[in-house]
Amino acid sequence: MRYLKLGDAFIVRLMTGEEIHASLNELATLERIDVAGVEGIGAVYDAVLGYFDRANREYLKKSVPGEMEILSLSGNLSIKDSQPFAHLHVVLGGRNCEAVAGHLFEAKTGATCEIIVRPLKGFVKRTLDPATGLYLLDI
Ligand code: ZN
Repeated sequence: MRYLKLGDAFIVRLMTGEEIHASLNELATLERIDVAGVEGIGAVYDAVLGYFDRANREYLKKSVPGEMEILSLSGNLSIKDSQPFAHLHVVLGGRNCEAVAGHLFEAKTGATCEIIVRPLKGFVKRTLDPATGLYLLDI
């Protein structure tokens, strides 16, 4: 991971093989980011996407084989269990320009990932919401 601070924001470049969540959580730790907006493009492989089945209170997971373009990565950083937590959603594009999308559980960087992290002033943590079974922003 390489990154550069530009004003209040960070521009991040991930290298082939680097895991997106782990890298963003590392950036948050290094730069003491408690809450931020995240957006990005690039390419990934070995992605695992999810869809939250609210009725059954569980994520349905789907592995996406092969290399995919990141058409849109968006999400946020906050604090969960006293640790940085990246909540990310993604739209991925394949060889035939087909798209798949969902909550991003994991993905490794393909050729590159170019991510912008915009820290916000303040502190936001996630706590378990009994109604959904999810760790939601505690605001
Ligand atoms: Zn999500």
